[in-house]
Amino acid sequence: MNKSLVKVSMPVLDPLIRNQNFMEVEQGYTPYDAVLEANRCLECKHMPCVNACPVEINIPGFIHEIKEKNFDKAYQIITNDSMLPAVCGRVCPQESQCESVCVRSIKGESVGIGRLERFVADYHYEQEHSTCDFDIHKNDMKVAIVGSGPAGLSCACELLKRGYDVTIYEALHAPGGVLTYGIPAFRLPKSIVSKEINNLIEHGVVLKTNTVIGKTLYLEDLFEDGFKAIFIATGAGLPQFLNIEGETLNGVYSANEFLTRVNLMKAYEKDQATPIYKDEIVSVVGGGNVAMDAARSALRLGAKQVHIIYRRSIDELPARKAEIEHALEEGIIFDMLTNPVEIIGDSYGFVKAMKCVKMKLGELDQSGRRRPIEIEGSEFEFKTDVVIIAVGTTPNPLISKTSPDLDINHKGCIITIDETGITSKAFVFAGGDAVTGAATVIEAMGAGKKSAVAIDQILS
Ligand code: FAD
Ligand code: SF4
Repeated sequence: MNKSLVKVSMPVLDPLIRNQNFMEVEQGYTPYDAVLEANRCLECKHMPCVNACPVEINIPGFIHEIKEKNFDKAYQIITNDSMLPAVCGRVCPQESQCESVCVRSIKGESVGIGRLERFVADYHYEQEHSTCDFDIHKNDMKVAIVGSGPAGLSCACELLKRGYDVTIYEALHAPGGVLTYGIPAFRLPKSIVSKEINNLIEHGVVLKTNTVIGKTLYLEDLFEDGFKAIFIATGAGLPQFLNIEGETLNGVYSANEFLTRVNLMKAYEKDQATPIYKDEIVSVVGGGNVAMDAARSALRLGAKQVHIIYRRSIDELPARKAEIEHALEEGIIFDMLTNPVEIIGDSYGFVKAMKCVKMKLGELDQSGRRRPIEIEGSEFEFKTDVVIIAVGTTPNPLISKTSPDLDINHKGCIITIDETGITSKAFVFAGGDAVTGAATVIEAMGAGKKSAVAIDQILS
């Protein structure tokens, strides 16, 4: 038993070196570190950490195997419930899920569940073992999945295990959803994402990229093609804007567009033709993980100064604490209690400055955070060359517009009757960000898994 009150630390690249490249920041545990950290786990009988995990991984079970140095067994235990362990070990907000209820956190830090999950997956792949294996007994029924992000992938995996022929339709040229086009390589190397997706393809999932459902094909076409059920997992990729003057100027991006150019279209590689403005001063508006990713990417592309502009204080930033700390270490400037009111352009239509007002915090609002209030007469202007807007996204309306019998709510999210993902349209299920609005990887995976069970029940 390791009685240390703090987690075994994770080595990270030096901030002043890493802020100039897209190499992974966190370096992962060695086997020695992993066993040491695993020995902090009490293997609690009531397993609160498992109940707090949206895909219910047997956490004490896999940690027990790490203690015994049975790393492959630990991998098998995790992949019974999650087919993206190397991804989730890196990007899941464990601090608000499994680790938030860990008994060790009553006095000291929780067990590093995410770090251990990541270690197990990385170790498994480093030994050049194949990714997870499962027996499949085919039932000759076809199910279509729309969208290849975490919700679609986890639904595909569960249906595959139950014997279905699964085809995933993906609008982009590469699968993975936000894992591929949104989260930068310095947090989630793309080779990791490909490895975990290729596993599904090797097991027989058919992937049809460059196919936009609601444009290239409609839901009805899929039923006519013999699919018995459809799972919609199209995410929430439609960016919101501030609705202020100047948002159409050259040099203003939505965070989604900026990150897609960087991650999917590899704008950071010298020989790539993807155009991107990477001028001297970049301002990112917003305070979530997406804003942190955009700001840290802009710095790595060569910007001299990168500002995060956020209307509340640093304590209210919704991004993960670790991401905020990494951004600060790398030299991102945090302009808190600041709200943009206008983006100003030059005579050629390019961004040259931004007008903002200063804010103060008032009473708690419905979200439980203190409401930002504008300070009268506090308007000021500052020079900026690029503005990246990261103030949230909503689901893309393409499918709902072309399927009027699919009910959506006022935010454009698909309405489901419960967690099984049943929608208003017969044999059409939905899950992930398309239903909840922007959320997390593991919640999307949980939704995909639950819908797969429900699809299986209805079809069998
Ligand atoms: P997505 O991952 O959005 O996948 C949807 C897929 O559907 C996409 O590939 C899209 O191209 C495709 N699609 C859309 N419309 C169609 C159509 N009509 N036809 C065919 N295909 C279509 N979560 C975390 O847990 N941790 C993090 O650190 C984290 N960081 C994030 C950073 C960024 C920059 C962003 C944008 C999000 C982040 N999130 C993070 C949130 C997380 O990535 C999402 O909650 C999760 O990816 C949602 O999964 P999904 O499968 O529902 O949708
Ligand atoms: Fe181990 Fe913490 Fe889960 Fe208990 S709650 S089993 S200590 S990880």
